[in-house]
Amino acid sequence: MAIICPNCQRQYDVTLFEFGHSLVCDCGTVVNPFETSALEIPIDGVLDLHTFRPSEVKDLVPEYLRACIQNKIFRIRIIHGKGTGALRRTVHSILKKMAEVDSFEPAGEEEGGWGATIVRLKRSGE
Ligand SMILES: [Zn+2]
Repeated sequence: MAIICPNCQRQYDVTLFEFGHSLVCDCGTVVNPFETSALEIPIDGVLDLHTFRPSEVKDLVPEYLRACIQNKIFRIRIIHGKGTGALRRTVHSILKKMAEVDSFEPAGEEEGGWGATIVRLKRSGE
C-alpha cells in the first residue's frame, strides 16, 4: 500500500500500523490519506469502504471500478457493511448510474451477505 504526496507526487509505503495517521512529506506537505486522494488502493477486485469517509465514496467507487476494467477485473466485491443500509444505498445508486456496470447483487453469505455487493462489469472495453 502506498501514499502519494499530492504536492510533489513522492510515494511512501505505509505499514498497517501507520495506516490512518497523517505523514509529513519531505516537501513539508502533511499527507493524510483520509483528507486527500493520496491513498493508492490495491486493484484486486475487493473494495472495502470501511476505511473511507462516506463523502469520498461517490468518487471512489467509479474510479475503482474503472481501474478494475483497465486491469481486466470484471467481478468486484464492494464491502459497505450492514449498518443502517445508508452506505449500501449510496453504493447502489452509484452503480445504477454507471454505464460500465452490467449487474450487481448482494454477496452470498460466505462473502459478507448483505454487508457486501458483488458487481459485474461489462467486458466491452476489452
Ligand atoms: Zn511532498
